[in-house]
Amino acid sequence: MNRPKTIEKMIEVIKKLPGIGPKMAERLSYYIVSKMLQDDVNKLLNSIKEAKLAVKNCTVCYNLTEYNPCVICSDSTRIRNVICVVESPQDLIAVSKVKEYKGLYFVLGGVLSPLDAIGPSDIRIDNFVKRLKNDNNISEVIIATDADSKGEMTAIYLANIVKKMGIKVTRLGCGLPVGGDIEYADERTIYNAITARKEM
Ligand SMILES: [Zn+2]
Repeated sequence: MNRPKTIEKMIEVIKKLPGIGPKMAERLSYYIVSKMLQDDVNKLLNSIKEAKLAVKNCTVCYNLTEYNPCVICSDSTRIRNVICVVESPQDLIAVSKVKEYKGLYFVLGGVLSPLDAIGPSDIRIDNFVKRLKNDNNISEVIIATDADSKGEMTAIYLANIVKKMGIKVTRLGCGLPVGGDIEYADERTIYNAITARKEM
């Protein structure tokens, strides 16, 4: 027996989400249709719609935000001569838990990955260079990409560009496990890595 067409359609959409294969998409679709209360289904749909409409990239740091510039970029108490470069908004959240870091941020939106055909023009390298050119206050760029091979490659690529602009570049120091994902590192680990940052 074939599945109802509407469930078939749901599975097709849900399996496009990251980390969700056809089996999981099927499980979720059947759960939503047969077990979820109509009220919860409505809440789910509305929350997706609402967030998708309200949340945009900050035009300064590219963090996800409902306000532009975001609360970090518009916070006048922050130190404005240091920028911490992270891969994703989730990594920004992780680093921002370290209260001792009071500088600014920039979200690259990915890392270089030749095997996946992701080059410099696929992430926000140009936007970052433009920001540095437009802001004479910046005296240090802290690169906080993950400690894996793609993160390292991206850090080196970026460091070469930034150094040529006469700006000091540092990389998060030891403390982060090799291959470690910043997003999942705890506050103490990130704090140690920032404190132990090394000039590139
Ligand atoms: Zn911002």
